[in-house]
Amino acid sequence: MAELLTIGAFARTAELTPKALRLYDELGLLRPAHVDPASGYRYYEPLQLERARLVARLRLLGMPLARITAVCTLPPAAAADEVAAYWAQVEHDTDARRRLARLLADHLRGKEPATMNSTLLRLSGAAASDSGLARETNQDTAYAGPGLLAVADGYGPAGARASTLAVDALKALSGPPDQAVPAAVEAANRGIAGLDGSGTTLTALVWAGSELVLAHVGDSRAYLLRDGELLRLTTDHSYVRTLVDEGRLTEEEASAHPQRALLTRALDGREDSGVDVSARQARPGDRYLLCSDGLSAVLPEAEIRRALVAAEDPEAAVRELVALTRRVGAPDNIAAAVADVADVAQGG
Ligand code: MN
Repeated sequence: MAELLTIGAFARTAELTPKALRLYDELGLLRPAHVDPASGYRYYEPLQLERARLVARLRLLGMPLARITAVCTLPPAAAADEVAAYWAQVEHDTDARRRLARLLADHLRGKEPATMNSTLLRLSGAAASDSGLARETNQDTAYAGPGLLAVADGYGPAGARASTLAVDALKALSGPPDQAVPAAVEAANRGIAGLDGSGTTLTALVWAGSELVLAHVGDSRAYLLRDGELLRLTTDHSYVRTLVDEGRLTEEEASAHPQRALLTRALDGREDSGVDVSARQARPGDRYLLCSDGLSAVLPEAEIRRALVAAEDPEAAVRELVALTRRVGAPDNIAAAVADVADVAQGG
């Protein structure tokens, strides 16, 4: 067995204070290798230095203790992902606070008093994509992260790359979403032009501070569950939808039409994607669902509503919706993303 270090020697080597080490012990983050039953002195193994340094650096990062405990139990690659996810959340929250600070300063200087009515948003979401039961590959992409909820349904030989590219384009936006989103979508569209004949739909919610923007192109959908009611927020950019709007097809005929998958708009590399971008008024208690047609074409809206109402959190909602879709055969790829809106002042 390696020689044990006293708490003083261990603290010096780890560049920590004995006081911090005693705290880590009490919190279960780093137990001493040995505690002298008579004196109560703590002793550490040299091998514990790495854990001690990791804990100290995560503390320096500002990570909450409970989360540090979780990181310490993960294998290195998963721990790395967790640290990256934590930092993305911090940056997003900081951005939101920066906006609030600016609003407050403007308000105190007597400028733009109206903006004080807006609340600071916190959306928390979950997403999943599944190849379904009939397709061999999955070209759908679903994402839930800081400031972004998105689904995309790719098609063509590089459909999976097209849908990934579209969602990735919205991950690192800067500036007000109503301006940044259309620019990012058009940039993604230009990238897709290189993917010979492939394209994708894109339906996404982007938020920053108190602003919430919905971007939509293609036949994936956005729904809002508010006060127990399910509202469809998007119009399918599809050939059959055009026929229904013109009164030449009923909703029922449209859902069985052989060309129901034909899109009138998509990110396909052609100039001007025709993406719809609209600002939304978010309300605490709202629950959003974004999904690809692999879900909405086979689950009746009444069933989607029931699942959304019953689910305790976004993760449970996504899990249930994917399971329901698979239960009825899942003939297409499935993408689903759900987010709940809360007021930052309420925590969460
Ligand atoms: Mn599809």
